[in-house]
Amino acid sequence: MRYSSRREAILEVLRNTKEHPDADTVYEKVREKIPNISLGTVYRNLRELGESGELNTLETEDGSTHFDADTSRHAHFVCKGCGKIGDLFGYGDVADALEHAGYKVECVKTVVYGLCPECARKQKDCDPSLS
Ligand code: ZN
Ligand code: MN
Repeated sequence: MRYSSRREAILEVLRNTKEHPDADTVYEKVREKIPNISLGTVYRNLRELGESGELNTLETEDGSTHFDADTSRHAHFVCKGCGKIGDLFGYGDVADALEHAGYKVECVKTVVYGLCPECARKQKDCDPSLS
């Protein structure tokens, strides 16, 4: 297995999901295709792909790093109920305004925390004082 095929398999896993997995989850998925790949190889490739800008990295409050093959400018929402990480598009306005004013924006890492609609509804159902 050539180095580039492993790299390609890792990218493929991330292109096929919108769930923003962490390195361990990527490793589990890549192993379905390349059973003998090591966790270290997956970590190293993810780091390199992040550094080269081929992948978006997202550090969350709990100290974990998540990966995203979608490198377009977008923000993320992290649900504190179920842990789901969702994409928020159309929030590049701040960066656009800065660039318009002559700033050179390298990346935008906006992470919003709260409850997704499903978890917000569940919480409301459990606490009658909120309804
Ligand atoms: Zn949720
Ligand atoms: Mn994303």
